Amino acid sequence: MVYKASKYYQSMQLAEDFYFYIWQGRGNNCNSCLFANVLRGERPHAIVDPGHITNELREACFDYLVDAMEENGFKVSDIGLIINTHSHPDHCQANELLVQRNGAWVTLSEEEDEFRNTLGEKLFSMLGMKSPQFTPLFYLKEGNLNLGTKNKVELQVFHTPGHSPGSVCLYWPDKKILITGDVVFYGSIGRTDFPSGSLSILKKSIDRLSQLDVECLVPGHSTEYGSIVKGKRNVERNFQAVKLFI
Ligand SMILES: [Zn+2]
Repeated sequence: MVYKASKYYQSMQLAEDFYFYIWQGRGNNCNSCLFANVLRGERPHAIVDPGHITNELREACFDYLVDAMEENGFKVSDIGLIINTHSHPDHCQANELLVQRNGAWVTLSEEEDEFRNTLGEKLFSMLGMKSPQFTPLFYLKEGNLNLGTKNKVELQVFHTPGHSPGSVCLYWPDKKILITGDVVFYGSIGRTDFPSGSLSILKKSIDRLSQLDVECLVPGHSTEYGSIVKGKRNVERNFQAVKLFI
């Protein structure tokens, strides 16, 4: 495992060609994941949730992500696919830049795409932001998602609503890694007070995820307890603990 400290992101290599970028700024932004060199073609990287361009404290989140990726030897201009766990601004605002600059493709669930085109757009404007413009290449559906053929990454998509109606989590059975977006964090769960949030639905989603064989839980935000939950026993304990909130 490699740790590199940059002011705004800590990057962590969790598997061969899989990097986790942990947001360290003062304002809000999500953590990002990078599947490097996985896609065929000129732009071989896939990113999960590129985050904000600029957050509420005017921190230049996307520029800092560019720096953090460069520290690991990756160019943001080589990102060809964006996978969004959900469409809240702190996860997908930078989609538009990657689409405009790289012609990157975007995927998210159909439920989330409907949401972002209706109530989600209002959420952006409530927060004083413009909704990013992009058209998904395809929709994420429950089941297998195979990323390219270069370095084969076979993921499983789980539809996990509650925080947002079309939230998904990505499970990588080979590595026992679970990317949870804003469904579950280290010692905490996603908010359910945004439009179309539901605590009872979130509980069902968390119950489903807790059945998986996970060694490494990779959340969309850090908490006071930490970021990654590592080790099967700790992941199980984390699920037990967060269920106390719901
Ligand atoms: Zn969110």
